[in-house]
Amino acid sequence: MSRGDSVGAWKLGVVAETRTLTKSARSIMLDVPGWGGNIAGQHADVRLTAADGYQAVRSYSVASVGTGDRIELAVDRLPDGEVSPYLVDEVMVGDELEVRGPLGGWFVWRPDQREPVQLVAGGSGIVPLMAMIRSHHATGSTAPFRLLYSLRTPEDAFFREALLAPPAGVDVTWHYTREVPAGWEHAPRRLTATDLATSTFPPTDEPAMYVCGPTGFVETVARALVDLGHDPQRVKTERFGGT
Ligand SMILES: Cc1cc2nc3c(=O)[nH]c(=O)nc-3n(C[C@H](O)[C@H](O)[C@H](O)COP(=O)(O)OP(=O)(O)OC[C@H]3O[C@@H](n4cnc5c(N)ncnc54)[C@H](O)[C@@H]3O)c2cc1C
Repeated sequence: MSRGDSVGAWKLGVVAETRTLTKSARSIMLDVPGWGGNIAGQHADVRLTAADGYQAVRSYSVASVGTGDRIELAVDRLPDGEVSPYLVDEVMVGDELEVRGPLGGWFVWRPDQREPVQLVAGGSGIVPLMAMIRSHHATGSTAPFRLLYSLRTPEDAFFREALLAPPAGVDVTWHYTREVPAGWEHAPRRLTATDLATSTFPPTDEPAMYVCGPTGFVETVARALVDLGHDPQRVKTERFGGT
């Protein structure tokens, strides 16, 4: 079977481990024989099949990188969602999940990229960007990395411990939209153009920019970055859905 066939085929993954990330999110480590590794930023499709044959397919970014067959997905529960509550609340170690991938070749960061990298995440949009940070660290990249992570509250942070002590060469700026930690320098607010201008690489550095999160967040941030003078070709976006 060619690599192309293998990527498009559904594979049976087994849940090896789960980890709570926040009140509404958890990581699922899956062993997927034949996965064969992925590039930072790629995603997997997950297919659930009900007893009556009804199927639902959703995409999830892969938080892990490397060449192995174990992958990490990190899923946030949408209260009225069809698939995410099941993945966050019900899936157990030993359960089987059908997955397809790795998918996507546009919203990716490759270790041979040398330019500065600006990551902007809204909520669960951190997942593919975390894979980029992990790839940067694993490969000893010297490309300067900056992450601007926008969250509703401090408790909503995915990968909190790792991002509070980021690897060398990665600078993290936190931003809160509903509730700030005690003593924070400003009240909670949505990201403004001024926040973006002060917390991200300037256009003169010609950074590669990756923006990921809910659709409305991504569109607002991408537009603001272009208005600040960034070349639209350098602003890559991944929309997770919703408004
Ligand atoms: C390439 C890609 C990668 C993704 N990676 C991740 C990931 O790593 N982690 C993750 O948690 N999700 C990720 N998503 C989103 C995921 O695919 C599902 O859309 C999400 O889990 C909701 O599915 P659901 O069946 O629970 O909700 P649905 O039943 O599909 O939707 C329920 C309601 O929520 C709205 N909605 C759907 N998605 C969102 C959203 N993201 N934010 C706000 N409202 C929404 C819908 O419009 C609908 O009204 C990714 C999406 C894409 C396209």
